[in-house]
Amino acid sequence: MSELLYLDHNATTPIDPCVRDAMLPWLENEFGNPSSVYSLGRRAAAAMNGARDQVASLVGARASEIIFNSCGTEATNTAILSAIAIDPDKRHIITSAVEHSATIKLCEYLATRGYEITWLPVDSGGQLDPDDLESAITPETAVVSLLWANNETGVIFPIEEIAAITARKKVPLHLDAVQAAGKVPIDLETLGAQYASLSAHKLYAPKGVGALYVNRRARYTPMLRGSQEETKRGGTQNVASIVAFGKAAELAEAHLLTAAERIASLRDCFEQTLLSTVEGVRRNGTDEPRLPNTSNLTFAGIEAETALLLFDKEGLCCSAGSACSSGSINPSHVLTAMGVTRDEARASLRFSLGRTTTEAEINRALEIIPRIVARLRSAQPAGGSPVHITS
Ligand code: PLP
Repeated sequence: MSELLYLDHNATTPIDPCVRDAMLPWLENEFGNPSSVYSLGRRAAAAMNGARDQVASLVGARASEIIFNSCGTEATNTAILSAIAIDPDKRHIITSAVEHSATIKLCEYLATRGYEITWLPVDSGGQLDPDDLESAITPETAVVSLLWANNETGVIFPIEEIAAITARKKVPLHLDAVQAAGKVPIDLETLGAQYASLSAHKLYAPKGVGALYVNRRARYTPMLRGSQEETKRGGTQNVASIVAFGKAAELAEAHLLTAAERIASLRDCFEQTLLSTVEGVRRNGTDEPRLPNTSNLTFAGIEAETALLLFDKEGLCCSAGSACSSGSINPSHVLTAMGVTRDEARASLRFSLGRTTTEAEINRALEIIPRIVARLRSAQPAGGSPVHITS
């Protein structure tokens, strides 16, 4: 078995040992329900509130504006459903063509319930034009929901301009900050968005815990009703994972600038080497503004899904910008929205570096990738479509 070479940190991250240590007591002796009045429960509540401070600090929010929940997807669903429930007469939602499925699937569903959805386009660099947003807003618009940073390309949307427009037009703004948090500085207080989604497992904490930021002046109605989280999200809290989320947020904040600089320099070296030494490689997405850890590349003539299987044999984990469904490979909606052809999209790979990625690992990746790409290309008949390698 080859040594793991993990370049898929936008999919999920390993749990940081300090995060694991912080959560362990809450899986063992400290098992109290944070709503219980005796000290075992009060300690759990206090630990959870410490985590609330830590998460709030990472994103420039107040602790009272952080609602813990199960994941980024829940946060996004809650924000959009809250906004439309508050203004039931407004039946128009604005989002973009390159959102995460958490937003897309909900908006597609709401379209079947009579909502009009505007899918804002992006340019060939994956960038959104704020003027398009401005002109899409109507008196019927209930909410604008947009990514802070794209999970496939790392492209960062013009968040300040977007927030200024929605503030001027008095339309609630939800930002999916799941990929941005911990990778770039976030100051929600200054920005003035009404809602933001966060997820712990992109931050070196466990899966199954997230948070919704709701600005204290924003109108809000919960999706899950119950007494927890001051009635803003029902369900007994996952204390151990919330404590882990808090610790992860504290570490992310402490390391943010130094980690971003180090990771960006490794990513740039990785990307430049492939672009300059392997023929037929192209980057998808603008160079800047972009997350420091993400590189999305098209390798002309290969089939990304097959590359993933061959990489896996060498321990290398990354993602294809496509999903296999019922035997057919659907090209990434993000790349096709950027004007990338379906064939090019099927030949695209996303590499996402992390806090523990080393120069030695990048060098190993730079040895593996060109070799596998050459193998895939040599297996392709001249002028034909890529061959599936089954070994
Ligand atoms: N939004 C973005 C941009 C993501 O990348 C993800 C996860 O991949 C999510 C939302 C969903 O987060 P979760 O996995 O916590 O539901």
